Amino acid sequence: MDHAEADHGQFADPHAEIREEVRKLCSKFPGEYWRKLDEVRGYPTEFVTALTEAGYLSVLIPEEYGGSGLPLSAAAAILETVQSEGCNGAACHAQMYIMGTILRHGSEEQKKKYLPKIATGELRLQAFGVTEPTSGTDTTSLRTFAKREGDHYVVNGQKVWTSRAEHSDLMLLLARTTPKGEEKKKTEGLSTFIVDMRAALGHGLTIRPIRTMMNHNSTEVFFDNMAVPAENLIGQEGRGFRYILDGMNAERLLIAAECIGDAKWFIAKATDYARERRVFNRPIGQNQGIQFPIAKAYAQMRAAELMVKAGCAKFEAGLPCGEEANMAKMLAAEASWAAGEACIQTHGGFGFAEEYDVERKFRETRLYQVAPISTNLILSFVAEHVLGLPRSY
Ligand SMILES: Cc1cc2nc3c(=O)[nH]c(=O)nc-3n(C[C@H](O)[C@H](O)[C@H](O)COP(=O)(O)OP(=O)(O)OC[C@H]3O[C@@H](n4cnc5c(N)ncnc54)[C@H](O)[C@@H]3O)c2cc1C
Repeated sequence: MDHAEADHGQFADPHAEIREEVRKLCSKFPGEYWRKLDEVRGYPTEFVTALTEAGYLSVLIPEEYGGSGLPLSAAAAILETVQSEGCNGAACHAQMYIMGTILRHGSEEQKKKYLPKIATGELRLQAFGVTEPTSGTDTTSLRTFAKREGDHYVVNGQKVWTSRAEHSDLMLLLARTTPKGEEKKKTEGLSTFIVDMRAALGHGLTIRPIRTMMNHNSTEVFFDNMAVPAENLIGQEGRGFRYILDGMNAERLLIAAECIGDAKWFIAKATDYARERRVFNRPIGQNQGIQFPIAKAYAQMRAAELMVKAGCAKFEAGLPCGEEANMAKMLAAEASWAAGEACIQTHGGFGFAEEYDVERKFRETRLYQVAPISTNLILSFVAEHVLGLPRSY
């Protein structure tokens, strides 16, 4: 048996074909495409359209609602490949998973109304309005209020870091429906809504872009007496925080997969350069000072990759996977950062030149130690919920 054969059996990649197809698609969007957009903080419309038309953004939607009903690990393979090919899934990854809240907690009517159109891309649901400027990570302290008035809710407040709001038709909004202090439990009193931003824009909804260190199309969003039809409430009033938490494991595992992809891109780029670049009459990659950080990042990436796989396997089996999803996201974000650091150092001065794409990817991958949840909060989760230590906040 040769090595290629030995790779099969229990170690065979069930998503090898998808990866190959995604790779082909990504090859049409080289570094130059992303560099131009980065310069003007533009949205990669052509790339997102290509992914949508190929059906990759609807893989998690069940077939009965127009998607392909694939497991989470398939979605992870798609996003990992997008990143490892040097592209940036941040422009559209949320289209894959935000709909999970409608799928799991929406009414049959809502599922029929929205999911098939999200599957075709006719409706973009990729804006997620949770974070607010004053409450930050402390989500249950958010202030945006939705007051029921007859057949609709009137929403007032503000969100920040609402990514892709200008490139989305719908927003999944978490707002308070019971005044703070009057709710029975801290985790109650918040509700989840589908906001039709096309109808609301200019009628109580204002979106302002925030320029960030990388091209992420993030915004701040203001609600001034914005009306949302009562039928757009998802599930029960007051249970919204739970519904949002429910979707977080999938989101964390998918972001972790993206970080694995970033790490693979950095490692490939660093090793290629280390082999080719000659200084002092030998390849720089012959020096252990160059080899070791790359090798270490590779080991970190492989370990994190196992955690992503473990998390996806538990998610797909319907088992609780909060521990794995959180740890996968933390470990993968650290691995991609270590790989980025090794890559930029390996490139010396050229690591800082835009045309090498290293500095762009370096900026892009840094985000994932902060969003969608910061490393500290993951460590707090592990300390409290896995190790049984007292809650620290
Ligand atoms: C580019 C970008 C895109 C984003 N996209 C979205 C989006 O689409 N939708 C959305 O809702 N949000 C989005 N976010 C928000 C993101 O989820 C938050 O920035 C993140 O959760 C951290 O919240 P914060 O910025 O308010 O930091 P804060 O909560 O103010 O925290 C600041 C620092 O203090 C630490 N900290 C806070 N409390 C504790 C504690 N108890 N123990 C230890 N450390 C603590 C944090 O870990 C962090 O390092 C995005 C953010 C960015 C930067």
